[in-house]
Amino acid sequence: MSLPLDRRAREVLPDEARVRAHDRSVYSLRERRDRAVARTPDWEALCRQAEAIKAHTLDHLGEYLEAFESNARAAGAVVHWAEDADAHNETVHALLRERGVSRVVKSKSMLTEDCGLNPWLEARGIEVTDTDLGERIVQLAGERPSHIIVPAVHKSRHEISELFHETMATPSGETDPPRLVEHARRDLRSRFLAAEAGITGVNFAIAGTGSIVVVTNEGNADLGMSLPPLHIACMGIEKVIPGLDDLAVFTRLLARSATGQDLSVYTSLVTGPRVGGELHIVLVDDGRSRLLADAAHAQSLRCIRCSACLNTCPVYRRAGGHSYAYAIPGPLGSVLAPALEPGGERDTLPLASTLCGSCSAVCPVRIDLHGQLLAWRRERPALGRLARAGLRVAARVMARPTLFRLAGRAARGLWPLLSRRFPGNPASGWLRGRELPAHPGESFRRRYLRERGRGA
Ligand code: SF4
Repeated sequence: MSLPLDRRAREVLPDEARVRAHDRSVYSLRERRDRAVARTPDWEALCRQAEAIKAHTLDHLGEYLEAFESNARAAGAVVHWAEDADAHNETVHALLRERGVSRVVKSKSMLTEDCGLNPWLEARGIEVTDTDLGERIVQLAGERPSHIIVPAVHKSRHEISELFHETMATPSGETDPPRLVEHARRDLRSRFLAAEAGITGVNFAIAGTGSIVVVTNEGNADLGMSLPPLHIACMGIEKVIPGLDDLAVFTRLLARSATGQDLSVYTSLVTGPRVGGELHIVLVDDGRSRLLADAAHAQSLRCIRCSACLNTCPVYRRAGGHSYAYAIPGPLGSVLAPALEPGGERDTLPLASTLCGSCSAVCPVRIDLHGQLLAWRRERPALGRLARAGLRVAARVMARPTLFRLAGRAARGLWPLLSRRFPGNPASGWLRGRELPAHPGESFRRRYLRERGRGA
């Protein structure tokens, strides 16, 4: 059976060289994460602590959100609530429209990506510039991010060089990364200075102080928050944590899990607006309350968007983020999509997994990701009719030992045929990149009995 993700993957990364390059780039993040974990002796304790903080906060989310709102207001911020993506986009647009804003700088935020904020604002005449370098690259290319922390990881240096040449008139053939970065920096600097508003995401929100925390490596969010007079911060309601002591646990986990750094370069706490400016915080539900009420899946709200599960996932590494029918790719997207945006192709995402468990093993807040994928498979049977009928037949055969043995004998007879690609062979897709190993010539049962010295 061929999944929609499988079909898209062939378009997104069409040849083995591109697949390998993507795999290498992404897996290098996983290796850096492993080295960072190895030099952190209290890693397991930190993860347990983070899991407990998140579980506790989600159990008392209403109280912590109210505390956050009241403390943020006391510090001078204006807090807005948005029930869904449209309400979020409309809130942001209304704030910009009322102030006559036509140019906005935005730092990386998967929430705004998921809500489709850029096209919403652009359709209403507002110019939005993404300022994270990777985000800027995909924006110039007219694409969406393919990874949650390295959005342009699917692009080669040469592709970026051509893109910059076409869109920023950089010298043709310039592939030196520092020089390309310098061009992008100069272009962005003028946009920062001209912007009338800055939009950022939020990594954590501190209930006890009403502060928001924004973590980046490039400092672009800090410019966006401090140069224009209006700062709009957009966050999902699950981002709130109780206090500053809890933040210390998450900052140690986030950077190590994401890029293997001990700490991200910029961790900015914003409590109230800057002098003479305005701070608006938009708290977005968009399905999160529904997910919180679902005991079987609420744990996915613990996620801190570190990307470790993407970087280790053998399916994501080979398929690329654009193969996923959801803004957030990888195992994380595959468990969030059926919960937050159910329906259609998104319900098939939990099927695109080997269930190897590598994602769960690296998750710093101990989300049982592969268990979640399995649970979604049971709840949203998105398999095709043919595959479901096949599984029903298999279940019947496996429940009858004689039939099972006969089927095994028939499969061994057909093995040489099945291992060749030809139209009509259901294994043809699988065989495209693999070889079916030769079978041992006898059943496992027969061999087991023989090796125990009893013969069959
Ligand atoms: S699910 Fe876990 S590993 Fe994946 S991004 Fe979220 S916190 Fe990181």
